[in-house]
Amino acid sequence: MKLTTRILIGLGLGAMTGLILNIFSPELFTVLDKFLFTPLGKIFINLISMLVVPIVLFSIILGTAGLGDPKKLGRIGFKTVSFFLATTAIAISIGLALAYLIKPGLIGQFDTSGAEFKAEKAPPVSDTFLNLIPANPFEALTAGNMLQVIVLALFIGIALTALGEKTKGIFNLIEQGNEIMMYLVGLVMKFAPYGTFGLIATAIGSQGLDAIKAMGVYMIVVVLALVVHALITYGSSVYFIGKKNPFWFFKQFSPAMGVAFSTSSSNATLPVSMETAQKNLRVPESVSSFVQPLGATINMDGTAIMQGVATLFIAQVYGADLTLAELLTVVLTAVLASIGTAGVPGVGLIMLAMVLQSVGLPVEGIGLILGIDRLLDMARTAVNITGDAACAVIVSESEKKHALRPAKSKVKNVAEE
Ligand code: ASP
Repeated sequence: MKLTTRILIGLGLGAMTGLILNIFSPELFTVLDKFLFTPLGKIFINLISMLVVPIVLFSIILGTAGLGDPKKLGRIGFKTVSFFLATTAIAISIGLALAYLIKPGLIGQFDTSGAEFKAEKAPPVSDTFLNLIPANPFEALTAGNMLQVIVLALFIGIALTALGEKTKGIFNLIEQGNEIMMYLVGLVMKFAPYGTFGLIATAIGSQGLDAIKAMGVYMIVVVLALVVHALITYGSSVYFIGKKNPFWFFKQFSPAMGVAFSTSSSNATLPVSMETAQKNLRVPESVSSFVQPLGATINMDGTAIMQGVATLFIAQVYGADLTLAELLTVVLTAVLASIGTAGVPGVGLIMLAMVLQSVGLPVEGIGLILGIDRLLDMARTAVNITGDAACAVIVSESEKKHALRPAKSKVKNVAEE
């Protein structure tokens, strides 16, 4: 059976098990969750997290060295960041438009008196830029600070290119290290169906069904905006710029989307999404290894959508009207907030405080959506990493005329295993 099918079965069975236990036997859920679901999920997350830092380090070094000249790097960097910013702004606009039309905050009763949320201080976005350079590279590696690891790898890649033959030994070593990591991704993915089963069972089983009912319309608006953005924004850019069939794109990339959905973490999904893009979408290693780690860290369209919908939802519940200028402020701050959002579960909600504060909306409003955010996090993370893959496809197509090295196809197509 194909890996994709097995992951989907894991997702479906996990959701069903969680739901049935949630309705009929919450006590049994507590026991099973402790001894089965949570351990399965944790083992899986740890297995893939184990590969993230070495993969980002090795593959970006090789990618940079593979590109050869720094001009190419600049060109790819410019295209990538432009695509990330443009699609994120479109994403928030779709979220805002749908929330404006459907008005989830005006359907149903919301008790704001009990709503509570203590805004943790969101790190200022300027910090993200200032901290790009790792003052201590070893600390960056052990802390798994992705942006700093990317910058470190870029520098090493540039040095390897400049030194050429002299550093051939280290280059070969890193290439072999990368092969080992990619092999391990394939191995770890064999556990994915069980891991996703455990993660989804925990996520669904521990939800309060009443909260889901109360927040139903809000959730529908977020999911609708995510689907519209994925199908239309990514679909059309993959088709028109990437010259690929969008259905093929989504189908080939689905194993990574399944893993993102269950882990709710762009970072943890990175090894799988890179492998899937290189093997299934035939994105050259040099593009994938640059675009995807960067995207997993700064490109969060799904998160931006949630922030757009949530801001209008909270405004509607609290009876506040936002002017056009305020809506534009929301677009701008949500773009920045999504850049500053780390690719781990739940951070999008913390950064939402920053968006709300920018237009003077009450941060306590987050308390209303807190309960069901875990579920939406799954869906938006899947969109987050799909945006990175769409960008990788587009950049690699536009770079074709510059003749990039094709992806190594020694390993079988992930979806066909
Ligand atoms: N969980 C998201 C991600 O890792 C971030 C967020 O929106 O909380 O992509």
